Amino acid sequence: MGYLSDIEIARAATKRPILEIGAALGIPPEALLPFGHDKAKITADFIANIETRPAGKLILVTAINPTPAGEGKTTTTVGLGDGLNAIGKRAAVCIREASLGPCFGMKGGAAGGGRAQVVPMEDINLHFTGDFHAITSAHNLLAAMIDNHIYWGNELDIDPRRVTWRRVMDMNDRALREVVASLGGVSNGYPRQTGFDITVASEVMAILCLARDLEDLRARLGEIIIGYTRAKAPVTARDLKADGAMAVLLAQALLPNLVQTLEYTPAFVHGGPFANIAHGCNSVMATRTALRLADFVVTEAGFGADLGAEKFLDIKCRQAGLAPDAVVIVATVRALKMNGGVTKDALGSENVEAVRHGCANLGRHIANVKSFGLPVVVAINHFVTDTEAEVRAVQEFVAGHGSEAILCRHWAEGSAGITELATRVAEIAERGAAQFDFLYPDDMPLFEKMETIAKRIYRADEVVADASIRERLEVWEKAGYGHLPICMAKTQYSFTTDPARRGAPTGFPIPIREVRLAAGAGFIVAICGEIMTMPGLPRVPAAETIGFDARGEIHGLF
Ligand code: ADP
Ligand code: MG
Repeated sequence: MGYLSDIEIARAATKRPILEIGAALGIPPEALLPFGHDKAKITADFIANIETRPAGKLILVTAINPTPAGEGKTTTTVGLGDGLNAIGKRAAVCIREASLGPCFGMKGGAAGGGRAQVVPMEDINLHFTGDFHAITSAHNLLAAMIDNHIYWGNELDIDPRRVTWRRVMDMNDRALREVVASLGGVSNGYPRQTGFDITVASEVMAILCLARDLEDLRARLGEIIIGYTRAKAPVTARDLKADGAMAVLLAQALLPNLVQTLEYTPAFVHGGPFANIAHGCNSVMATRTALRLADFVVTEAGFGADLGAEKFLDIKCRQAGLAPDAVVIVATVRALKMNGGVTKDALGSENVEAVRHGCANLGRHIANVKSFGLPVVVAINHFVTDTEAEVRAVQEFVAGHGSEAILCRHWAEGSAGITELATRVAEIAERGAAQFDFLYPDDMPLFEKMETIAKRIYRADEVVADASIRERLEVWEKAGYGHLPICMAKTQYSFTTDPARRGAPTGFPIPIREVRLAAGAGFIVAICGEIMTMPGLPRVPAAETIGFDARGEIHGLF
């Protein structure tokens, strides 16, 4: 039997009118702002009115360290939402919006896959409801106001060499990574070196995703540090009086977007911060709203559990007052094999030994998530090439680690293939077994927080950092930023800072090369290794094959 592509399945879907999807959650039509027939935003008034309702159960979907073999976190998040509805629970899904740039490079879609997708997938992967354009505009307004301030006399005494606020664009364009702005003479200002990042790397994106409401959004925008004066004092967006106008540009983008899965489960697709220099999960507004409308909310954290789940728990949950009731760790036989040393071209043949070997990676993630006081279930996202013996090896390993691994076929079968996992997850969440606690308290010194993450989650021996980095952290502690959580920016492929070291390595240091204060988002970024904030396109970009076919339908996008 041949399989249809993601876009073929998505296009064949019969969608319900978005007002009907909203009604199923108890959202009255006047509380929805429709964008066409299959997308809507939810009004701020309605969200404020349901604030005091009791919250449903929160299920986090995370994964083992990713490999090019793929894990399917989004696919499993969507499938589990459908599975919970299929067993009679009122469930909703919360995932991130897609970045436009990578769609024209080589990344696939961000709306799940197979029979577990959110629709309309072309819209979700392209302009959607315009949120990212609003974020781009707000970010660049601040950039324009910085150079304009300097041009008109620089009353704040901003040091043009110390402006850290760059510009953003939602496109993969390596040519813009480093640029010189204000060339061309006196009337164009003072030339200075700067550059572009992709929109999802903007601190405005992180702020939009962590803000609880419009007031909180504006307050956070005001806290953004754009650079320093000649006397090295920080200059904020509030000093430039940019926060009000930025909030105006973002007010509609802050409202969560509602769409549906192929099986009509309500899906909140909102916000999309990078998972390295930011926290990598959908918006607090969407998650909190969904929790007040559904009995179960399934959400996804980016990358492997060492980065994604840790940041979801220590940054998002801490700032938003959230606590998950259960965690699902997605693993695939293919990715476990790669963690066990098999190369990508040898994935086709059965290799139980490699699966067992690669399970060390899964085992460490299970133990890590449990150390937060959270119950764990492993979802084996089934690929047609998996053999029975390989699946059994994973299940035996996980059973030996005090958890259980359930085989899921949602990609091929939709909700029917994931009812066993849904039933288990519902049971665990309803039992109330979770005793969630953060990895570190607010009042721990900043460097010690980094050491705690590195040693307890990555299992590193030590954190290495120059005296200048430690001094910076001390300066920030004295300036009142010591309570902030840490946002680790590290390769997603390994527990170490070396992407090639798969499995569960021990005996390594975590070197911190740079620290950045994201005062508006409310975290301190610790950069451990090369972090790309403006991707490039590959030699043959997907854009070359994207277009309309004879029937006027988009092809080549996924
Ligand atoms: P993640 O969220 O972990 O990045 P996705 O859920 O977006 O991964 O899936 C990435 C790609 O892998 C998608 O194109 C999806 O269709 C595909 N995929 C996911 N699960 C399976 C599966 N069980 N079999 C085949 N392809 C799958
Ligand atoms: Mg995903």
